Amino acid sequence: TPLVRCENAARTYGSGVGAVVAVHGLSCEVPPGARIAVVGPSGSGKSTLLHLMAGLDRPTAGRVSHPGLGDEDAVGLARHIGIVFQGPSLLPPLTAVENVALPMRIDGVAEDEAGSRARAALVSLGLEELAGRLPDELSAGQAQRVAVARVLARRPRLVLADEPTGQLDRETGRQVLSVLLGTADELSAAVLVTTHDPRVARELDVQWYMADGRLIQPATDPGAGRREV
Ligand code: ADP
Ligand code: ADP
Repeated sequence: TPLVRCENAARTYGSGVGAVVAVHGLSCEVPPGARIAVVGPSGSGKSTLLHLMAGLDRPTAGRVSHPGLGDEDAVGLARHIGIVFQGPSLLPPLTAVENVALPMRIDGVAEDEAGSRARAALVSLGLEELAGRLPDELSAGQAQRVAVARVLARRPRLVLADEPTGQLDRETGRQVLSVLLGTADELSAAVLVTTHDPRVARELDVQWYMADGRLIQPATDPGAGRREV
């Protein structure tokens, strides 16, 4: 059962002559355990696709559903879906370990358990020495790895990462991506990464391409007619 299914989904911003069609005609499925790169230039609709899949945004036409995640509401979905954003996403007044623990506290996990799971996630990513630091005291790459630890600690079944290496230099980007993919493996979670960088895309098993708000999937089955042009 796919974790996410998009059926002819579209997202339009605004209306009338000023309307911007961010994505349209999106039909795709993310199966359990899949490792997918969504590749395309800036403005092609990658973030919009990811937000729709995450339940952070709703399609203005068509349908996005989560059959493999119990088709829950947005709050329920948030427990199964871990999201990594491009830029700084840690809360400035909280230490690294507090940032990692916070979503679990919001989920209702007891303080002690949230703290120990947060520390374990930092340890497993080799970040234990950063546990007590504030986000201001972390490099961009360290902060992004803490954001990955925050996803790991919550044990989602689907990890969505929006240009997770977009603001990092090449070597740091490589480290963050490797930690992200290792984390998804460890959780047996599916992972979908958006990127404009073909080198990043090649690290995943499957590449989907976006251009002008449309998704072009390489046909896996010659008879399936999946390809859109
Ligand atoms: P990408 O992630 O590939 O850079 P986006 O999904 O961010 O692409 O954007 C797709 C299109 O939708 C772009 O033309 C962008 O300008 C437009 N868009 C995105 N968000 C908004 C918004 N909040 N209001 C208006 N237009 C938007
Ligand atoms: P854009 O404005 O086109 O979205 P960005 O500001 O995201 O571009 O990226 C700036 C530059 O950093 C680009 O030249 C891009 O190729 C490079 N870059 C981004 N991510 C990586 C990465 N993981 N490894 C190497 N280069 C990268």
